[in-house]
Amino acid sequence: MAAIMDFCDKLAAGVPTLSYEFSPPKNPAGWATLYSTLGEITRQAPDFVSVTYGAGGSNRQKTVDLVSRIERELDIDSVPHLTCVGHSKEEITEILTTLQAAGIRHLMALRGDAPKNDPSYQPHPSGFAHASDLIEYTQANFEFHIGCAFYPEKHPDAEHLDADIHWLKFKQDCGAEFATSQLFFDNAAYYEFRDHAVKADVTMPLIAGILPVTSTSQLARIGELSGQDIPKKLLDALGEGTDKEVQERGVEYAAAQCRDLLQNGAPGVHLYTFNRAASAVKITKTLRADGWFPLTQKGK
Ligand code: FAD
Repeated sequence: MAAIMDFCDKLAAGVPTLSYEFSPPKNPAGWATLYSTLGEITRQAPDFVSVTYGAGGSNRQKTVDLVSRIERELDIDSVPHLTCVGHSKEEITEILTTLQAAGIRHLMALRGDAPKNDPSYQPHPSGFAHASDLIEYTQANFEFHIGCAFYPEKHPDAEHLDADIHWLKFKQDCGAEFATSQLFFDNAAYYEFRDHAVKADVTMPLIAGILPVTSTSQLARIGELSGQDIPKKLLDALGEGTDKEVQERGVEYAAAQCRDLLQNGAPGVHLYTFNRAASAVKITKTLRADGWFPLTQKGK
């Protein structure tokens, strides 16, 4: 039986939510790590966990199996991500039908990215061009609570922030009930985005996606892949030192980010875990010691 109070009800009631993101592992060792991580995360009583989807469907079955198992065996609301890039409408219908039949009630609807290094790539002729198309179709034909993505520092394809916010509002109009952010390291970006979004009548909760940095090499990779700004204050905070020291400072930085966001009205924090429990659990315990996310509030 899943949580009595759905996390969407909690968001609507203005009660902050705590959630974590995982990805289906690529090999047996990765699955062993993930199951051990999930055991620890379950003890933190999250409001939900989300499971990523390989754009184009590379780990399609794994995402479906993993969310079904988390919901059934761990009694945690689980939110599968689904990207529409490369999929036909029939394939999307099949996936949504399977998820609904498995009792999954929430969905993170995304566009995904075209495969890199494939100049011949063409969007599927009978597919969906944007997340908004997927949201509209899902809303009309299925019964999921639908979430979508937003980018406090602007999506790389968007010409300017206002265009991105315009399309975020459109995703809300198509049926999205909540949005989760791309990771960011400077809360000012989130606040600025939120102020603009509110002016554009975006009323859905904008959950803050936070990554505890675990190493300087990870940070460099993230900067390269996502085009994210790496603020000097983060680099200064991480400093030099052993991997363990950097990881501890990454936890402190992310916990301070979360505390500030919650104090300033963020409706929830979503921790990017890379399938590891240690940093996410430490952040959760720090926030809990400050009075956030009391275990009695879970409504289980
Ligand atoms: P869209 O909402 O379609 O936006 C993409 C761009 O098009 C933006 O610039 C937007 O402003 C513009 N736009 C939006 N709607 C329209 C429209 N109707 N007409 C014209 N322009 C429009 N990727 C994965 O492969 N798997 C995952 O599991 C995954 N999970 C993610 C989770 C989160 C929280 C986030 C923030 C991202 C995730 N991504 C994932 C990455 C995401 O797929 C990429 O960032 C992708 O490039 C954009 O997806 P989107 O859903 O935001 O697209």
